[in-house]
Amino acid sequence: MKKNNEKIYIIGHKSPDTDSICSAIAYAHFLNELSQNVIAARSGDINPETEFVLNYFNVSIPELLTDAGGKKLILVDHNEPMQGPDNIENAEILEVVDHHKIAFKYSEPIYFHTEPVGCTATIIAWEYVDCDIEIPKEIAGLLLSAILSDTVVFKSPTTTEDDIETAEMLAEIAGIEDIKKFGIEVKRAKASLAGMDSESIIYSDFKDFDFSKKKVGIGQIEIVDMNEVSGRKNELINKLKEIAKNKNYNLIVLMSTDIINEGSELLVSGETEYIKKAFDRAVENNSIYLEGVMSRKKDVVPVLENAFKI
Ligand code: MN
Ligand code: MN
Repeated sequence: MKKNNEKIYIIGHKSPDTDSICSAIAYAHFLNELSQNVIAARSGDINPETEFVLNYFNVSIPELLTDAGGKKLILVDHNEPMQGPDNIENAEILEVVDHHKIAFKYSEPIYFHTEPVGCTATIIAWEYVDCDIEIPKEIAGLLLSAILSDTVVFKSPTTTEDDIETAEMLAEIAGIEDIKKFGIEVKRAKASLAGMDSESIIYSDFKDFDFSKKKVGIGQIEIVDMNEVSGRKNELINKLKEIAKNKNYNLIVLMSTDIINEGSELLVSGETEYIKKAFDRAVENNSIYLEGVMSRKKDVVPVLENAFKI
């Protein structure tokens, strides 16, 4: 990457998760070690899980960047412009580091680094190793937390051997002895819906997609006690209906993923025939339960995107 003195912001997706925040912080540290002038940023409020992780390793929260217009950006943990900060179409993008499907077009050649692994943090940890740069203890802790978060403590089908090996290496540096125990602690920090209104639940981890020119929004929450969701189902469905109408979604989905029993309940509104088509199962009262489904990226997005093509 070329050197210059203008600020470069490293930023993850909207409704930032632990990977988007921690990868931005770690990659900023890495590039600054190579004497680049970069700043970790975020495109929204952090969630309680990320707050727990930042507190645990005593790292401060990245700068909020709400308007990317005219800025130089490095994107981490996303590459679809719809998921990036506002006004991204008027930003200069220098580089992408990601692990999602590629939906990116740009008029100039750039550094574009994606790998089919469970977490952006895994890719960034390798960058340190490849360039022989020492990973500080707190950065190792953040990268480890991101891997545990994205892979749902290695239970998600997106998990690769590389993620597990990298997590083990990072845990050693971070001084975390029991990785799985720490992972459940990280996930639990976000797993309670208590005190959250239905709108914040839906938007806590929400992504927009363009499936064959139709606007689809998919939110995901990870739950330890599914009774929390069943008790508030009608309220959540009504809010989904309202959002679909006000924001012109063809289809809107909230995945409640049970991280203990490994499955997801999908609450849906809009053109739900696509859900039926995708999973070959009837949608009843705006809801469908899918056993073994853990990952939006691997279990839901590809099947649903396909259903829109037929
Ligand atoms: Mn993410
Ligand atoms: Mn990620």
